[in-house]
Amino acid sequence: MKFEDYHINPAIKKALDKLGFKKPTDIQFKAIPPILRGEDVLAIAQTGTGKTAAFAIPVLHMLHERKQYARQDGIKCLVMVPTRELAIQITEVFHTLGKHTRVETMTVFGGVEQAPQITKLEDGIDVLVATPGRMFDLVSQGHIRLERVEMLILDEADHMLDLGFIKDIRDVLRHLPRKRQTLFFSATINEKIKDLAYSLVTKPIRIQI
Ligand code: AMP
Repeated sequence: MKFEDYHINPAIKKALDKLGFKKPTDIQFKAIPPILRGEDVLAIAQTGTGKTAAFAIPVLHMLHERKQYARQDGIKCLVMVPTRELAIQITEVFHTLGKHTRVETMTVFGGVEQAPQITKLEDGIDVLVATPGRMFDLVSQGHIRLERVEMLILDEADHMLDLGFIKDIRDVLRHLPRKRQTLFFSATINEKIKDLAYSLVTKPIRIQI
């Protein structure tokens, strides 16, 4: 199967073509269809497998296809990641693959001034890629509203647990609507990660790469 055979918006196909991505990787082949159907996904996949595009492609497609579209409606997709490096990397993938779409993606992470992040957030954002600590600060100060979030993605969830982000994650999650699609990505799996995963996802499609 090639990307050209997928029911994904031409705006995204154009970006894939430019990148020279012709065929989905294993994780993309397995994850894109259930994500497009609105199902929860629990995926065990390492970096280097193409996991970022596995969620970025369907998210960009779903947001871009909407007829009624207003960025001012608020954040629709929240991606939580353990590190600033990963946040920047994922945001770049959304920007590259979403270049011909109307979807706006930005990132917030700690260790830098908040003010420029707040100004940019006020412009209206569809996809927010965030580290849990800064995310929690901005939510508790009222700079980020999460009541319109329809999709939650946790990437490198095992790494987030290792770094002690569990409380920040749980605090942020309390602000999210219950009715949402959740995608949970982790490189490894153990009881602790399973507990977190199953407290967040509902009847997930399980994928192991
Ligand atoms: P990731 O696992 O998301 O960090 O991606 C690993 C690398 O694979 C990145 O450099 C991507 O640009 C590349 N990549 C992702 N999907 C594809 C694809 N379908 N075809 C070729 N390269 C890809």
